[in-house]
Amino acid sequence: MGKTEVQQDTYLVGLGVSPGVGIGRICLLNRLSHIAEWQIDESEIEGEVLRFRKALVDAGVALRGVKQKVASQPHLREHIYILDTHLLILEDELLTGRTEELIRQKNNAESALGQTLKQLRTMFENIEDEYLRERSSDLDAVGQRLQRILAGVTDSTLDEIKETALVAAHDLSPADTMQLDRDKVVGFITDRGGKTSHTAILARSLGIPAVVGLESATAIVQNEMPAIIDGTTGVVILNPSEETFREYLKRKLAFEYLEKELSSYRDLPAETRDKVKVTLRANLEIVSEVPAAQKDGAVGVGLYRTEFLYMNRTQPPSEEEQFAAYSEIAQGVAPHPVTIRTLDVGGDKFVPDVSLEQEDNPAMGLRAIRLSLREVDLFKVQLRAILRASALGNVRIMFPMISGVAEIRTCKRILRTVKSELTQEKIPFDPQLQIGIMIETPSAVMIASLLAKEVDFFSIGTNDLIQYCLAVDRGNEHVAYLYEPLHPAILTALKMVCDAAHANGVAVSMCGEMAAEPLYVPVLLGLGLDELSMNHACLPRVKRVLRNLKQTDGEAILLEIMQLSTGKEVAAYLDREMRKLLPDLFGDFVI
Ligand code: PEP
Ligand code: MG
Repeated sequence: MGKTEVQQDTYLVGLGVSPGVGIGRICLLNRLSHIAEWQIDESEIEGEVLRFRKALVDAGVALRGVKQKVASQPHLREHIYILDTHLLILEDELLTGRTEELIRQKNNAESALGQTLKQLRTMFENIEDEYLRERSSDLDAVGQRLQRILAGVTDSTLDEIKETALVAAHDLSPADTMQLDRDKVVGFITDRGGKTSHTAILARSLGIPAVVGLESATAIVQNEMPAIIDGTTGVVILNPSEETFREYLKRKLAFEYLEKELSSYRDLPAETRDKVKVTLRANLEIVSEVPAAQKDGAVGVGLYRTEFLYMNRTQPPSEEEQFAAYSEIAQGVAPHPVTIRTLDVGGDKFVPDVSLEQEDNPAMGLRAIRLSLREVDLFKVQLRAILRASALGNVRIMFPMISGVAEIRTCKRILRTVKSELTQEKIPFDPQLQIGIMIETPSAVMIASLLAKEVDFFSIGTNDLIQYCLAVDRGNEHVAYLYEPLHPAILTALKMVCDAAHANGVAVSMCGEMAAEPLYVPVLLGLGLDELSMNHACLPRVKRVLRNLKQTDGEAILLEIMQLSTGKEVAAYLDREMRKLLPDLFGDFVI
């Protein structure tokens, strides 16, 4: 009976960090539930120090063993640095010296280590840099390993995993994750974890579906409990009913079939059957996503959302910090471009050092470029960093939420000032740096021809454009039914922008979520978009549809849908046409 305390179809929701469906029985990884702590006598100190040093040696041996195993697996080789980080932590004076000091103050090794880890964790948590802060998980992983050795608990649980296990753990260290056998582990869930944790990055590399950040899942699940995890949506279902099981089995088969098929598209050119090229780029929020984006076939970055550098901190990032991030991406994707969008916050998003009053209508308030043009010093620091990075790669700059010509002219004037300051300081930058704007306001659509004369490229931000055109808050669930990308008003707006851009010799891209939807590909083709930029994971699917269509198919479909009266009619028409044109791709299993 014990196992059925959790009700049938119990849903947990976390952060889906690695897509795919995993179905199996839970294997709850052993954790040390209790760390033995006691005071020691003077006479025991040396013995305890030796016991701690031996644990350090044993941990080093174990880590080097994992490293050797990993080195023989090409898909994991790029992650060896994580193990090197762990080895470095083992040798770090801060860890070893402080622990020995505490042992000499008559704490047993476990207790001394526990106290040291606690102090170091506080140090890490106060680091401003989000990436470095997340590295506290590496420290925890090393700490756990040492505590297990001190307690005489081996790592054997990972080797004992049975077939089709869904691993559940409070936290899974990157070293643990690397040891997961893809043939046996069909997914994992953890209480802890964020999108940038090494564990999440590794899960994606390994292709193991994963849901992290479930907070207290390990307190609920039990060994051998049947479960389903959906790493795409972040949903975990415990004790699934037969009906749920069947539904997810279908999803799993569809996902796996598609993945296999899709991997063959990654290195193929993004062009239609009649040889029309559409450049596919990635949207990035964090620098470390570059390799994954390239693996999915992204040709450069069409939108780098710089605001993520400014969040969760008390001070805005310095010029140096921004320069480091921008140049890392620029160098990583060269010779392809990285499109760096200037700060797009305000409204409901907080920026330190900028005293924003509470606004009645934040979506229409002091946000994006409006904020940058008010806080010119903050803006200039960002422009300097972007310009400096432009000397090291192919950098383009993009301004968000432009609503009129005056705004872009002001941006260009400030950019010119920053350029001449850099020239005076003999700091290099790319003098040909391309300038673009996001098209996300109805006014920008209406004056697209005027704006086109001011810039090198447009990028349509449909997420906001739909919200502003249809007057539908993009985050409000009560009006979500009105948020329709295929609404005739949106199609008309998109056509106006593409036509105005092309009439003026300006390239036009789309970087809103609409670009990532395979069903919309014929529409985007018909509109004549030059580039599409999206979450890299969506890229192979979009490319596959693109390669199976002709531009003329898109043009014919666009002509038809422009005659329809509602978004629903357009969606139904598209669905029917795509099932007819590409039955293999738009059948029941395809997403
Ligand atoms: C958009 O509005 O479509 C866009 C890409 O920008 P964001 O989603 O960051 O507002
Ligand atoms: Mg936007």
